[in-house]
Amino acid sequence: MANQPTVTADGYCTNRTPVQGTARTANTAGLGSKFSRLHGRSYADCPCGRKAIGLNGTGSLYRHKPPQE
Ligand SMILES: [Zn+2]
Repeated sequence: MANQPTVTADGYCTNRTPVQGTARTANTAGLGSKFSRLHGRSYADCPCGRKAIGLNGTGSLYRHKPPQE
């Protein structure tokens, strides 16, 4: 497929750039204390189709594997 990020030999996506406009911060208010540890974390989507990947301090995606079809 066009625009598909490459994948390393061990299956990890090489893309580190989030899809523009998808970055958001987890808002777990109302979900209860069970989820409070996730509150305030940033997530974004990757062009490989993976959603809600954590962002590191510099705004890059954490290492992830593209979804299996
Ligand atoms: Zn990816």
